[in-house]
Amino acid sequence: MGMLVPLFNILFMSDGSMLYPHLLAQLDLGHVQLRNRTLMGSMHTGLEEERGGFERMAAYYAERAAGEAGLIVTGGIAPNRAGAVVPFGAKLTTAAEARRHTVITNAVHQAGGLICLQILHTGRYAYHPFAVSASALQSPITPFKPWELTQSGIRKTVASFARCAQLAREAGYDGVEIMASEGYLINQFIAPATNQRTDDYGGSMENRHRLAIEIVRAVRAATGPDSIIIFRLSMLDLVQNGSTFEEVLALGKAVAAAGATLINTGIGWHEARIPTIAAVVPRAAFAWVTESFRPHLPIPVIATNRINDPAVAEQVLASGQADMVSMARPFLADPQFVKKARMGKAHLINTCIACNQACLDHVFERKPASCLVNPFACRETVLVKKTSPQPRHVVVVGGGPAGMAAAATAAECGHRVTLVEAAARVGGQFHLAKLVPGKEEYAETVRYFENLLADLGVEVLLNTKATADWLLTLKADRYLIATGVSPRKAGFENEDDPRVLRYDEVLLGHKTPGPKVAIVGAGGIGFDMSAYLLGGHAKIENPKKAFQSYWGIDSTLQSAGGLIDPDYGQPGRELWLLQRSAGKLGGKLGKTTGWIHRLQTKQQKVHLWGSVQYIGMQPGGFEIERLGKRLVLPVDHVVVCAGQQPLKHVADTLVGLGCA
Ligand code: SF4
Repeated sequence: MGMLVPLFNILFMSDGSMLYPHLLAQLDLGHVQLRNRTLMGSMHTGLEEERGGFERMAAYYAERAAGEAGLIVTGGIAPNRAGAVVPFGAKLTTAAEARRHTVITNAVHQAGGLICLQILHTGRYAYHPFAVSASALQSPITPFKPWELTQSGIRKTVASFARCAQLAREAGYDGVEIMASEGYLINQFIAPATNQRTDDYGGSMENRHRLAIEIVRAVRAATGPDSIIIFRLSMLDLVQNGSTFEEVLALGKAVAAAGATLINTGIGWHEARIPTIAAVVPRAAFAWVTESFRPHLPIPVIATNRINDPAVAEQVLASGQADMVSMARPFLADPQFVKKARMGKAHLINTCIACNQACLDHVFERKPASCLVNPFACRETVLVKKTSPQPRHVVVVGGGPAGMAAAATAAECGHRVTLVEAAARVGGQFHLAKLVPGKEEYAETVRYFENLLADLGVEVLLNTKATADWLLTLKADRYLIATGVSPRKAGFENEDDPRVLRYDEVLLGHKTPGPKVAIVGAGGIGFDMSAYLLGGHAKIENPKKAFQSYWGIDSTLQSAGGLIDPDYGQPGRELWLLQRSAGKLGGKLGKTTGWIHRLQTKQQKVHLWGSVQYIGMQPGGFEIERLGKRLVLPVDHVVVCAGQQPLKHVADTLVGLGCA
């Protein structure tokens, strides 16, 4: 055994031996051997319904297969029309539809990978009037009351899962994942919360589990013994009247007996008001749930949620919490996640920062998914990096995220690149973002680009304030200006009062506001500032335990659904979060994370005020006008979070000098 050599934030063996022995170990599934313990988890890309989407998905999945993902699961595909997310959502019900999938399976197999199709019946989460469920109970997050499935409807549903799985096999898939968690149809039958039936499919645990078991049996019968069947089991519903530990365990054993090959972990229904994958969730924060069931289940189990780093994945596996780890978004962020880990290049992994901005938020807006830190994701056939036949000298001015990405891409295309940055480190605004509670992962993007730029041989000039005249002396062939932004003023009287602070000086710790603070501007920066000022930035001894107790997650798994009383603690400050416009504060925040920020401000008793006119600082505080009345908020400080404005001076000067 050689010495452990720390380099960056990972450990290398001095003798060059394997770095992640558990992660990279093969897994024998009987008829098939997985090359490592990673599952690229299911994620709808939005390409499923796009014209030409299958060709794009083929390239997308093939790139992840080439990057050595152990097993890939597609986004959810409905087994019948009622199960589709939207009226013409992707389904697999005919041989003609199956033929369209062969481009995906062929591409993945040629790249050396294995791929399963996820069968997803949305049940009452469907956005159409044909939605069906165990009982006619509308979900709090969708607009249609579902129809209660009749017994004949249930039989047809089971048959449609079997047919879908059989068609998937004919299309070349190596198996299927049966989606039975996150509050979708099968989960709706399993949990008393949504199942009020009085027939053979409701009431007792055996009856509520009947549909799930019948589906697994039918799928196994339809696909034969050599097909992978992953059952996504809701181990922690995080809703009232969800399943108990004993019920989940009984179902896990039953689906294994019915023919499942692997059990994947499902955490939280979509309607649960507890974050499960957002950045506020600590890394691997739910692996303990999988760990609780693993010793009692006869087939391998897969841990999920906020596993985005090979060292974390290795730890989950090495400590016996799971047999495999599922990662969905991390494979968007970096298709070569596994390959880089295997080759000792984890420092060059582009880490998913759990922002949801370009993946899930796009899908909710009915746009194809991509990735904030990897815009090539899902655009593999559209954005293609090509080696330039005529390499040039490219100077990039500004080392923020845009400048770093531009410099790296230009270098990858074969150009000689110089990156000029005024600060002592590249990273720009991400150095501020990483200071916000729940955004610590932004530091990973800076780490990635710093390493990548070095790896690509980009010349990085730090502490260098570029002027147009100086830039021209470099005689570059091309100048790319990415000089970023500066904080915008709010535009009220006496904004230069010492009690008025900018968000950047507060985040950087240069100024510390008092116990009562008004935040001017309720966009993303305003909500981030409120999280920071409420004390979330303080060092927490045990982040996973703190997360569980804050959100009310039962770590003993004694309560049905896994909920206990939350402990929001005492707010660190009294805050007023203000905006000029009327309407819901934070209404423009991302669909999949905005609700968390809004909920947290309410939990922390932040005053959320819209329709506010800012007058100015007074001896007693901050004067505003609201609902026709003037009042002075008794605050110690005002923090201005009124957005940003582009720094265009260098660009304007260069253009003025004829460098258009
Ligand atoms: Fe991860 Fe954000 Fe990229 Fe989604 S957009 S994959 S959350 S980094």
